Amino acid sequence: MSSEESERRYRRIEDLPGVGPSIANKLRELGFHTVESLAMATIRELVQVGIGKKRAFEIINAARASSSLSFIRADELIEKRQNILKLTTGSKKLDALLGGGIETQAITEFYGEYGSGKSQIAHQLCVNVQLPVERGGLDGGALYIDTENTFRTERISQMAEHMGLDPQEIFKRIILAEAYTSDHQMFLLENADRVIKENNIKLIIIDSLTAHFRSEYIGRESLAERQQKLNQHMHKLIRLARAFNAVAFVTNQVMSSPDVFFGDSIRPIGGHIVAHTSHTRIYLRKAGRGPVRIARLVSSPYLPEGECVFRITENGIEDVEENERR
Ligand code: ADP
Ligand code: MG
Repeated sequence: MSSEESERRYRRIEDLPGVGPSIANKLRELGFHTVESLAMATIRELVQVGIGKKRAFEIINAARASSSLSFIRADELIEKRQNILKLTTGSKKLDALLGGGIETQAITEFYGEYGSGKSQIAHQLCVNVQLPVERGGLDGGALYIDTENTFRTERISQMAEHMGLDPQEIFKRIILAEAYTSDHQMFLLENADRVIKENNIKLIIIDSLTAHFRSEYIGRESLAERQQKLNQHMHKLIRLARAFNAVAFVTNQVMSSPDVFFGDSIRPIGGHIVAHTSHTRIYLRKAGRGPVRIARLVSSPYLPEGECVFRITENGIEDVEENERR
């Protein structure tokens, strides 16, 4: 490929060499509506819908060249990592625990018991992502994939008003998608690329990542299939987060494992697949009966483990006052 050709930018998938109307339709069926998402496709995915292997290779390569995703040198990697942005949680302590906020281009998982505050953080992020970068936002919109019907506009209003923002304007930049089953949840994400691009989405939430999978795949015999589907789902998520420089935020429940005799027997759902695919994992728990929560950074690619406290009030996610009792 000449350097001139490799620098060519294609705007729509139809503009890619080898993509006519019929192939474009097949690509859309697979959920590839944009050149950015196609750059992250695998040949196997395209072959599934009857596109020839060689053609699939060429299409993906052209999409990659157009989105400048190929081999890079380490110094270029530094530059790429400089594109990573950080989204504030609303609590300075929690941001510090996360190394300055929640990173784009990666999956951040918050797990914890019912009522520990996972969905509250998700709501707060929907407001915060709309802030300008100087205020810790990403100047973008949010996509909220809701599997448990927990999204509440009332909560968004309270948080927005507290920050001096007009709730009506904030609502306009939050796109909701209710997922009825795990297959539906996967389908929504697989077809999210266009919505993400058209609405300048910078935050993709899946609340909860695992609930449908957990309730539908019961018993040992279905475990392998569940894990394979979860793996596929999370890989789609990471590809979208990278393609659009967005935050991927997922929530997860916990279960207590009976086989653990020492230490904490509380474990997040999803086993090794979720553990290895989430880049950053935070374990949330209540500190007594009040609004205070404890966040524990359990795993991160480059940050040390640690803990902090924050609180959930009518205003949203906040730091704990110095003199506040736990
Ligand atoms: P999870 O998603 O982890 O199950 P949630 O994020 O739904 O838990 O957290 C629910 C908790 O958040 C409530 O038990 C309450 O402590 C707190 N909370 C929710 N709404 C408000 C509010 N308007 N004012 C103060 N605290 C609230
Ligand atoms: Mg919840």
